[in-house]
This record gives sequence, C-alpha cells and structure tokens, in this order.
Amino acid sequence: MANTIHHWINGAEVAGTSGRYSEVYNPAQGEVSGRVQLASSEELDLAVAAAKAAFPAWSATPPLRRARVMFKFKELLERHADEIVAAISREHGKVRADAHGELVRGLEVVEFACGAPHLLKGEFAENVGTAVDSYSLRQALGVVAGITPFNFPAMVPMWMFPLALVAGNTFLLKPSERDPSTALILARLLKEAGLPDGVFNVVQGDKVAVDAILANDDVQAVSFVGSTPIAQYIYATGTARGKRVQALGGAKNHMVVMPDADLDQAVDALMGAAYGSAGERCMAISVAVAVGDEVADALVARLAPKVRALKIGSWDSSADVEMGPLVTREHRNKVAAYIDAGVAEGASLVVDGRGHVVQGCESGFFLGGSLFDGVTTSMKIYQEEIFGPVLCVVRVGSYEEAIRITNEHAYGNGTAIFTRDGDAARDFVARIQVGMVGVNVPIPVPMAFMSFGGWKQSLYGDHHAYGAEGIRFYTRLKTVTARWPQSIRSGAEFVMPTMK
Ligand code: NAD
Repeated sequence: MANTIHHWINGAEVAGTSGRYSEVYNPAQGEVSGRVQLASSEELDLAVAAAKAAFPAWSATPPLRRARVMFKFKELLERHADEIVAAISREHGKVRADAHGELVRGLEVVEFACGAPHLLKGEFAENVGTAVDSYSLRQALGVVAGITPFNFPAMVPMWMFPLALVAGNTFLLKPSERDPSTALILARLLKEAGLPDGVFNVVQGDKVAVDAILANDDVQAVSFVGSTPIAQYIYATGTARGKRVQALGGAKNHMVVMPDADLDQAVDALMGAAYGSAGERCMAISVAVAVGDEVADALVARLAPKVRALKIGSWDSSADVEMGPLVTREHRNKVAAYIDAGVAEGASLVVDGRGHVVQGCESGFFLGGSLFDGVTTSMKIYQEEIFGPVLCVVRVGSYEEAIRITNEHAYGNGTAIFTRDGDAARDFVARIQVGMVGVNVPIPVPMAFMSFGGWKQSLYGDHHAYGAEGIRFYTRLKTVTARWPQSIRSGAEFVMPTMK
C-alpha cells in the first residue's frame, strides 16, 4: 500500500505499532486511496505522555509568544491553502470551493486566537477589605483532547486547538479515520510556525483510541464533535471520569418560510443549505417548513427543477461542480435507504436522486439531490438526521405550528426564518428552542468571535465551541485574595472571615 497515514507525536510523524488499519477512500472514484493507522490504547497513552511532558514549559510561555505562533500559523495556512484544500477534497469528496470555505472558517478561529493576551486577562478588585486586594486568573487545564468528525477535517479541529493552545494547554487530536490526512498537514505547519514539540499531537484511530482518551486520567478535558449517540457516550463517560467535556452532536435544521418571504431568495438559500457539501453539514437545512399551502406549492415548484439541475461531480473535474459524492459507500447506501423509507411512509418524492450516475465516476459514492414534499412529523425521515442531499418539505397551517414543531424536535442545532416581517422575526428569535438562529440567513454559523453550539440533543455540556466560550472551556478560574504584612492584624480569628 503506497499511502499509509501516520500519527504525529512529539513533533514528528510516527508509524503506528498496533498493526490495525482502516481503509481511506477517494469517494469520487470509489477507490481506496490509502490506509490509516489505528492506534492501540498504549500508543494513545504515549502521545498523552508527550503532551504532558510539554505542558510545563508551554503553559509558562507568555501568552503573547504563544499568540505569535498562531500569527505565523495563519500565514502558513494561507500559503498552503491549495495543499490543504486538495487533502480535504480527496478524502472527503467535497468540491474545492467548499473545502476552501471550511479552511477559511477555521482560519478565522486562528485569527481570534491571536488575541490571546487580551482574551486571557483576568479581573482585579482593589480594597475588597481594608488594604486587601483580589484578582482572578484564567489558567490552562493541562492536556486536552479533540475528537472530530469526517465532515470538516480542517475546520472542526480548528474550532478547538487554536484556543486550547494559546490558553497554554497541550493538545491531542483524534481525527476522523475517514479523512485523516488534513490533520497531519496542520501538525506540520504548526511545527513550522514554531510550536514546540509535544504541544500538538495527532493520534489516528477509532473507538479504541477514543476510549483510551476517556480512560486516561492525564487528559483534563475533551471536545467532541460528531453524531449524537457518540456525543452522549463521550459526555457520560468523560464526565464520570471527572473530565470537562463539551460534546456537539447531530442536527435536523428547520428553515421556516413565511408567506411574505422573498421566495427567490428562500429558494436559493435552500438550494445551498440543503445540497451544499452533499448535505453532510451539521448546519445543513434538511427541513423546509412552508407556512401555508400557497408557499409550499410555490417552493416545491421552484425547487424541483433546480434540484434536478444540480451540477454533481468530482472535486478535481474541470466542470463547475456544485456538489460532490457522499463520504463512503455505506453512508451513501444509508442515505438511499432513508429515501426508500420516506417513500414507504407515504411522503411524496418529487425529485429522486437514487439513480444518479456521474460520467467517468461510475464507482463513486454519488447520489443526486432528492426532494420530498408532504413530509409529516411522525415520519422517520423527519425525525432522524439523514446527513445527505435530501430536503424534506413540511407543510404547516400557521406560524405557531412552525414554532411548535421546531421546538418539539429532539435536535436544536440551527434554524432560520425567511420573512420580511420584523415582528415575526423578533418573536421567532425569542421563542425558538435552538442554539443558532438565522433571520434570512440559512446557515447561521457564528463567526469566530461569537461561539458555536446547539441546544437539546445537539450539544452535551455547558460551553459552546470557540469564541469567548472556547477560552472559558480551555481554562479554569483562580481567584486570589491578598494582603501584605502591614495590614495584618495580630491574633487568630475563628469565625468565617469577613472583610473589615
Ligand atoms: P461519528 O459520531 O461517527 O464520529 C465522530 C468521531 O467519533 C470520529 O472521530 C470517530 O472516530 C469517533 N467514533 C465513532 N464511533 C465511535 C464509537 N462507537 N465510540 C467512540 N468513538 C467513536 O460522526 P461522523 O459520521 O464522523 O460525523 C457526522 C456527524 O457529526 C453528524 O451527526 C453531524 O451532525 C455531526 N456534526 C455535528 C457538528 C456540530 O457542531 N454539532 C459539526 C459537525 C458534524
């Protein structure tokens, strides 16, 4: 096998010793492109030991110097963008422009992390008692880990490690075994930017590596992004071991289209948000909630020809491609089985993408775009996350019903309302039980200086990702109360101290 994808430990690529591998595919051709090593728990523990050894010096490095590594890293990301984009697209399948978009959204967190000296400042209160001062510090946790999904091999790790590192932690990344190469490029560029060895490590692997992270008492905190059942498992197991955990899960994002919405804008928004990245985005819109039959009929009539006309192909084709393949054959078949289930449950399949073939990529894991009308809340295709290029139109009789079904759904990652009515939009923002809300914005992914996170089964834990919440997650608060000999009265005090 020509291409074996290794770990990165202590500042260098390291060949695994477990003897276990997983195949990595080029999803556009349906061919194996390499194999990734799957770490044993012993290998994982060695990487944690390297990160632990690097922690004292790194956490004692002034935040300004840590931030300068990020400045340099940002420059390197820009310079090596083509290499990173190709690595993402080759293993994930998403089109080049989309891969570049994910790189930019990750890079923005790096830019935010460059403000570390300011972000880590504490608070100071003078004279909390006579000649007594009090101040607070935010200090690093130690070794922290990130476990990431296949759908954003650059962006999601960059939601995590830039802030963890500038806060003074050392980091261990366990990327998805389906597209593991991008993480190694990031590791190489961090080293080139001046990051000391051992501060950032990549351990390739599967459940064995994840369980070893959860079992290792030197890992202080875990950031997870992936599907909800695994997020629940990571949160329950990690917190039971005394770790700080943020675990972001799956989604079923509703976009409510009001009768007064600009329908052309709503249709364009739905096309990009439902079919971009083949629907493999946690912020994809998978449910269009049409308020009134008139809106629903018009939406479906305008969407259907556009869905049929989607330009689908390989990321490296010369054609102007809008959507690539699904990530694996199994996932493609799972999405196709959801379409079968929707038909069996009685939804109306307006556009059927199951038979779609891309010329020159006959073995690729492609599906065409699919569009369902008449979907009801009792259907499996409504309740579960499909994670593919399938949009479900649900017809509701009123705005209140649109609010109710969105709020009753188990997931609460993102949502959007399309309307020209400011009162309706304001009311929607106030009452909707979802963590990220768009007003005429279909994919309201918060910028790097805000924070990202859903509600309900889309996030387990107390902190959202990146932004100020990210700094809080990767640091703990220490509060100091200090006085100096001149102000200390003689004699012991046996009552609860109060300030005089
Ligand atoms: P996944 O849950 O299968 O895998 C995520 C990570 O967990 C991977 O690193 C994987 O190796 C590991 N893992 C898988 N099975 C495991 C097990 N049994 N025990 C321990 N670890 C395990 O998710 P995925 O298919 O890679 O990614 C798609 C999912 O991620 C979707 O549900 C999507 O909505 C979600 N996602 C959520 C967000 C968000 O911000 N909420 C962002 C991106 C993706």
